[in-house]
Amino acid sequence: MAGSHVTRPIFDGIPRVGELIFYVLAAATTLIFGYGVWRRVAKYRRGRPAGRGRHIREALLSRPTRGVRTRADRGSVGVVATNVTIGRRARAVGIAHFGVFWGFLALFAGTVILTIDFDLLRNISKHTVGHEVSFFHDWFYKIYKVVLNSFAIGAVIGLGYLMVRRGMRKPFRLDYRRAQHPEQGYSRRQFVIGDWLFAGGLFTILATGLLEEGFRIRGARFPGFEGWSWVGWLIGKISSGLGMSASVARHAHHVTWWVHAVLALAFVAYIPYSKAMHMLADGVNLLAHDRTATLRLPDPQPDPTHAGYVSIADFTWKELLDLDACTKCGRCHEVCPARTGGAPLSPRDLILDLRQWVDVSSGGLAVLDRETRPGPSGPTAPAEGTPLAGGVIPAETLWSCTTCMACVETCPVGIEHVGTIVQLRRSLVESGNMDPTLQTALQNLAGQGNSFGKSARMRARWTKALDFKIKDARTEPVKYLWYVGDYASYDDRLAENSRLLAGLLIRAGVDFGILYEDEWNSGNDVRRVGEEGLFELLVEHNVEVLANAQFEEIFTTDPHTLNALRNEYPTRGAIHKVWHYTELLAHLLETGALSVDPLNLKVTYHDPCYLGRYNRVTEAPRRVLAALGCELVEMPRNRDNTFCCGAGGGRIWMDDSRLSERPAANRIKEAATLDVSHFVVSCPKDMTMYSDAAKTTGHDATLTVLDIVRLVDLALRRPAQPVAEPAGAPA
Ligand code: SF4
Ligand code: SF4
Repeated sequence: MAGSHVTRPIFDGIPRVGELIFYVLAAATTLIFGYGVWRRVAKYRRGRPAGRGRHIREALLSRPTRGVRTRADRGSVGVVATNVTIGRRARAVGIAHFGVFWGFLALFAGTVILTIDFDLLRNISKHTVGHEVSFFHDWFYKIYKVVLNSFAIGAVIGLGYLMVRRGMRKPFRLDYRRAQHPEQGYSRRQFVIGDWLFAGGLFTILATGLLEEGFRIRGARFPGFEGWSWVGWLIGKISSGLGMSASVARHAHHVTWWVHAVLALAFVAYIPYSKAMHMLADGVNLLAHDRTATLRLPDPQPDPTHAGYVSIADFTWKELLDLDACTKCGRCHEVCPARTGGAPLSPRDLILDLRQWVDVSSGGLAVLDRETRPGPSGPTAPAEGTPLAGGVIPAETLWSCTTCMACVETCPVGIEHVGTIVQLRRSLVESGNMDPTLQTALQNLAGQGNSFGKSARMRARWTKALDFKIKDARTEPVKYLWYVGDYASYDDRLAENSRLLAGLLIRAGVDFGILYEDEWNSGNDVRRVGEEGLFELLVEHNVEVLANAQFEEIFTTDPHTLNALRNEYPTRGAIHKVWHYTELLAHLLETGALSVDPLNLKVTYHDPCYLGRYNRVTEAPRRVLAALGCELVEMPRNRDNTFCCGAGGGRIWMDDSRLSERPAANRIKEAATLDVSHFVVSCPKDMTMYSDAAKTTGHDATLTVLDIVRLVDLALRRPAQPVAEPAGAPA
């Protein structure tokens, strides 16, 4: 009941008129906040359905989804609550953000509890039972205080760390310099001001809340039970130690109370118009996040009048929410191989440009969250009629993407950049806005089923040099169907690797066959280029061939093909178990089907994006290396944090001569610092990219690039040769 002295008076020392002013301000805040949220929601409602209802339901129930490895692959309440995505590869930032996140939530909950007690329970009870009923006293008060003080100080420390890091250490990822513009032509000062207003405002609110409590306790001469408000108690003791009298403390309490209250209300009103919006958007975005949506790209937008995205209505609500969820943390900017190589693409800038375009063209109300031209001008809005793909977002930016997925993997708030990029590419493809070399590759694929433009009959020419015949899976039953892929079939430099693998499998007694001229390109990269019609054509052919072949499981040499067969084909009726050849080799070595002698080589291994990051096949190649007795020295960027060779997403068919540094060269330089003799790959495209890069960077004399199958062949225990008797040996 009210009346216990183990509590604190609400509006302690604030006159009645002050209380009234507070309630008027609170009502105005609620209206401004509500209007801002309504505007945002109205914007998302302009987008198409995203088909994420089931994901959100599963995420809310924290139910792991079948086929998904971690809960971060598809968001969950646990991911949001633990801030695990923020702490990934940035532990200190994760811990600090965890403190701020939970501190803010706890203080918000504390305010709600107080509102329920003071504004509802006490008022209602006064008018119904004739006296005030309250639970905000005694043991409840003590627990409330100790909990909120602890959360508040956690938030202050966390936010303090983040501010010092941003202001003093100035990490590259938080530098707002654009990837595709020189120094002039734009100004991002508003971003910087907005960041500091957000962080500084929140810090001041937290600090004044604690100070206000400390002065109140000092003003009340330290009642014993206030020891539960341990941070406030400490502040009170310090202020007392510094000579602050009780009456001065009471004045200081009133001042800090008002500063705290007005700032807190202003901050709430500011949330939906500023960077603070991420506090609302990110939780929902993470719950709706589906990493597997990048593995299996979204279908084209359904409007038959155009391909790809041309207006806001083409975006799904999730894609529009993605734009608002971006905190500008710059992690994607840092890891992007295109940006690293000097291409005019940064996934962060792409998201921010789209956000600004959507905001300006929908009459948004963003405050201090826009790029401007230098000088006293407005946001850098594109001229009326500027096309989205090829205008607002330059074609060169979109074509620079290797679809390596590093941005999606690293983004702590579940933004799915690659799907949006491909939707914009579809628009470029429709208007024919592409590299001539890419156009040729697509014509070859349409005409011959391969990007080399060679006849389908030549696909299995590499088998001619074998001294055995590989079974034809179209006509005879086999356990494994080997989907060889274009590069391992047609590129003469890689054919020997294919022959070695075939020989190893025969030696291990594996029952396998190939599709000969009926194997066509799987279409993985065609889809990522944005040529949806051609992708469907290739899939239709391949699915039919697979349906008529006789096999139990598939393995492939090409990680891009593996991705298509594992993730894209099942939705088109071809549901099969699909392995990478390293998984098969690991099994053969570990079961003794292949016997090897230790190589004792010091090697490093490169994870292909479509294998290591997309499909999380990271351990099988390492198991092979371990079975071969190799000492594996990891590059700093490994497994799902691998660095792209630059060939994915159709980039292998495009001109890369304008890059300041090819991603493959960057990677070879990384490996060259490790004191290893071999750079091991498990993707035919990697073999091409890295052999060239080793030569162009001058590391080919010290670093041998080779496919993992070559190492297995090298280590193979050959049948013992008869040893010649030394001349003159005794009989
Ligand atoms: S997919 Fe890779 S290349 Fe494309 S934007 Fe993301 S990080 Fe950059
Ligand atoms: S897209 Fe994600 S990773 Fe990139 S800056 Fe925004 S929040 Fe950070």
